[in-house]
Amino acid sequence: MHNRKLRFVAILTILLGTGFITTCFISYYVAHDSISSQIAETTLPLTSDNIYSEIQRDLLRPIFISSLMAQDTFVRDWTLAGEQDERAIIRYLKEIQKRYGTVTSFFVSDKTRKYYHSTGVLKKVSESDPQDAWYFRVQKMHDDYEVNVDTDTADRNSLTIFINYRVYDYSGNYIGTTGVGLAVEAVSDLINTYQNRYGRRVFFTDREGGITLRGAEHQGPENIRQIPGLAQHATQILTSPSNSLTYEKDGKTIYLNSRLVAEFDWLLLVEQMEDPAEARIAKTLIGNLALSLVITVIVLVLVNLTIGRYQRKLEEMATTDKLTGVANRQVFDILFNQAFKYAKRRGGPLSAIMLDLDHFKRVNDTFGHQAGDLVLTTTAHTVKRLIRDSDLLCRWGGEEFFVLLPDCDQVQAVAVAEKIRHTLETQKGVSFGAQTISITASFGVAELLPGDSKTDLIRRVDNAMYIAKEKGRNFVELAGR
Ligand code: GH3
Ligand code: MG
Ligand code: MG
Repeated sequence: MHNRKLRFVAILTILLGTGFITTCFISYYVAHDSISSQIAETTLPLTSDNIYSEIQRDLLRPIFISSLMAQDTFVRDWTLAGEQDERAIIRYLKEIQKRYGTVTSFFVSDKTRKYYHSTGVLKKVSESDPQDAWYFRVQKMHDDYEVNVDTDTADRNSLTIFINYRVYDYSGNYIGTTGVGLAVEAVSDLINTYQNRYGRRVFFTDREGGITLRGAEHQGPENIRQIPGLAQHATQILTSPSNSLTYEKDGKTIYLNSRLVAEFDWLLLVEQMEDPAEARIAKTLIGNLALSLVITVIVLVLVNLTIGRYQRKLEEMATTDKLTGVANRQVFDILFNQAFKYAKRRGGPLSAIMLDLDHFKRVNDTFGHQAGDLVLTTTAHTVKRLIRDSDLLCRWGGEEFFVLLPDCDQVQAVAVAEKIRHTLETQKGVSFGAQTISITASFGVAELLPGDSKTDLIRRVDNAMYIAKEKGRNFVELAGR
């Protein structure tokens, strides 16, 4: 019984535990997946679109300005006219710089190789000067312009994004390069603003994966091919105009969206670390698991208590006779077995009394069944009172009782039976309403003989009881040896 209870509690624990844990994790993963797909499919592309359009506005402006400069008839006429008044072009460049707020503006004539700047003629570009390599690159270039990050000829300490735009004469011959520059810090500030506004990391790479621009606090490798986790996706990112993917870094999922900014021939990369909502659902998961644990423990305690109560009740029901409260036949069989074995082993005497109420049918017939029940209960109590605690009283059948008396020989047993008989006969009858019901009983007594089995003892005591009935009832008959 105890084992079964344990097994039941264990199964219940497993069922509750599995149920709770499964539910917790399923809801966690559902929430996690919907957040992930929301980030990957909506939030991040949207951010990327926003940033892209802001970049269009903020970064493409210098390209537009440079294009205006390259097509300006003044610049072309002045150059074609032999670069006569240098102050005129210098004034022009100064005006551009002032009007558009760029950090630099320049024009390099292909004929004279003079580098004109808003502050004057800075130098002559020369093929032998590695600093001027950019010019000869642009000179041979097929595209109309390029975007180049370089140190400024006018200010060696600061990095500048140059837009180098080719200038043609009216017949389409190359006559020089013009353009403006933006301080990299200004662009980094721009990126920082985007990062702060959208809470995401923004950076640019060239087509080889080299990081060209990034926010101030963004540290790490100079090429995305060297970024752990991202390296294996680098080729995929660099060869397609747009991409959406996730990668793992330091045990965290990073969502990444990339797109090509064709004007720069750069890739814009927007990254988002684990979403704060994910941390929240992870917290919820732990909360749910804890709550489930508490509920499981409470349920188990309650179940344990309930089972315990029912168990005690069932045990009571199984061992006692409902009406009289004395032992029933089932428990009597067990106890009789023990007493029998004990007597056989120890060799001590064991006696039995069988008693049957006289004319009990008449009680039922005259006073009713309820009165009969009351007589049975009262008789059981009377007998119980007159025997020892170690003796065993059992309701054998309808109005028959069996008393087992360990360590008691037949002489003592007859005395006990006689005492009960006498008490029943002489005591004031059972009160039922206004009436008093008197009752007597007939007794068979037997002692266990050396060769006796349990059935032998029962048979002999039963026979003796019938003899007592035959002898006129209200009588004690000792079974013969
Ligand atoms: P005798 O034993 O003296 O020969 O007569 P009797 O009238 O007692 O004999 P019998 O065994 O024929 O009757 C027993 C009656 O006991 C019959 C049955 O209805 C009644 N009886 C058995 N169990 C119960 C019970 O639990 N409650 C009540 N009220 N009556 C019961
Ligand atoms: Mg009877
Ligand atoms: Mg009977």
